Amino acid sequence: MTDTRTNCAPTALTHFINGEHWTGTSSEVHQVRNPATGQQIAQAPCGTTADVDRAVAAAKAAFPQWSRRTPAERSELLLQAAEVVTTHAEDLAQLESVNAGKPMPLAREDVAGTIDTLRFMAGAARSQPGVSAGEYVAGRTSMLVREPVGVVAGIIPWNYPLMTAAWKIGPILAVGDTCVLKPSEQTPLTVLRLAELLDPVLPSGVLNVVTGRGSVVGEALATHPDVALVSVTGSVGSGKAVAHAAADSLKRVHLELGGKAPVVVFADADLEAVADGVVFAGFGNTGQDCGAACRILVEESVHDELVALLTARAEALVVGDPAEGEHIEMGPLVTEEHRDRVTGFLERAYAEGVRATTGGQAAGGAGFFMPPTVLVDIPGGAECVREEIFGPVVTVEKFTGEDAAIDAANDVPYGLSASVWTTSARRSADVPARLDFGTVWINDHLAFATEMPWGGFKASGYGRDLSAYALEDYSRTKHIMLNRTR
Ligand code: NAD
Repeated sequence: MTDTRTNCAPTALTHFINGEHWTGTSSEVHQVRNPATGQQIAQAPCGTTADVDRAVAAAKAAFPQWSRRTPAERSELLLQAAEVVTTHAEDLAQLESVNAGKPMPLAREDVAGTIDTLRFMAGAARSQPGVSAGEYVAGRTSMLVREPVGVVAGIIPWNYPLMTAAWKIGPILAVGDTCVLKPSEQTPLTVLRLAELLDPVLPSGVLNVVTGRGSVVGEALATHPDVALVSVTGSVGSGKAVAHAAADSLKRVHLELGGKAPVVVFADADLEAVADGVVFAGFGNTGQDCGAACRILVEESVHDELVALLTARAEALVVGDPAEGEHIEMGPLVTEEHRDRVTGFLERAYAEGVRATTGGQAAGGAGFFMPPTVLVDIPGGAECVREEIFGPVVTVEKFTGEDAAIDAANDVPYGLSASVWTTSARRSADVPARLDFGTVWINDHLAFATEMPWGGFKASGYGRDLSAYALEDYSRTKHIMLNRTR
């Protein structure tokens, strides 16, 4: 089938710096593909340290004026930005679908999340809380000022390119910082389009985009002396590399990294609801979600029933090229390399005695497809239940007793999100309190509220996206004390 939507995509992309397209200082390009067909849809420049210098200089030059605007003025521009995205919502969703392999309904949800984030941050810019000014020491008046930090670098992944861009841009611009964004090599299309679309709204230099490799562009941003804070959404390895690189200049680091979300199912849970929830949150976005419901821990007495329900639901999912129509529920993995990585996890799992009740190996043909897969018979400590697979693969393990369930859930290096499924009010209160994860859902999974923080513990990083807490992360406090006796 011909994918007419690829016409939306420009073939020769450029960086976007200081309100202008910039071809860059290197002729090297990265081939951007449609993962559903494997076809090349665009070429993105491989940025260099000179390109990063140019973008950081533009952001630095724009900072004094942008940071001096009142919160109301910045808020008004963020609301206008949300309006522009609303006007172009369908085009952006199509572009995201073609580049990231997302079914159109999901791509539209990402655009809706982008709009809501910009709107929320526009409001939050005007209502930052803090300690009230007052006489905390006799004869002296203390005032707390919240200031922007300067130029902030945002390094983002391929699984939610547009939405993670908004999760950075929203709070960064709201508090008065200026920004240089680096999209993933694989998915620069919507981020570059967003920068173009916002150009008439934002002053030049406030938002800049440099495309290219993490080891070059990301590293240059992390080490740049004029970048005050570097914020990464990505894998644990990339987060560590950025934290190391940022250490010499002692710049602040904000890390939103990987996850391995346990789904703790007690025998009193509504198993139909669990199966629906896992299919949505485990196979949605082809399982390429940091909070994906990927590790089911189920009370022994209902294990077989849940496995049967999950297997049936997985087999009913409609997998295909999102261009085929609105009925497609699950698309491909993002690249051939990533499909091979997921396959590697499966092969090693089978070598450990693990069994797939459905799916289990990559599909042939064009595109990077992998069917929804349910794994059972898992030996303790197996790789597939400890490491982030980041594909449509759900593991199911049994437990006996609440303490064992909690110990197993916490026994991973990650601490991003988890869910608990039960009809017991006591458990709904007690179990989340003992889970070491930044978000815990009860009888739900992967539901987001823009007003609430998103971020992890342990190897999932530190820093919070969304909510008023994100504004705190991207700003700094200053105490001004006036001695009134002199
Ligand atoms: P990735 O770590 O490969 O890449 C993320 C970004 O980091 C890319 O822009 C990449 O170019 C850049 N990068 C890579 N190496 C770098 C380096 N040495 N220095 C600076 N930048 C570098 O991640 P990915 O494969 O694009 O995305 C998937 C990962 O992101 C998963 O682990 C997923 O869990 C995580 N993720 C986390 C969240 C969250 O909110 N916690 C959200 C989405 C994705």
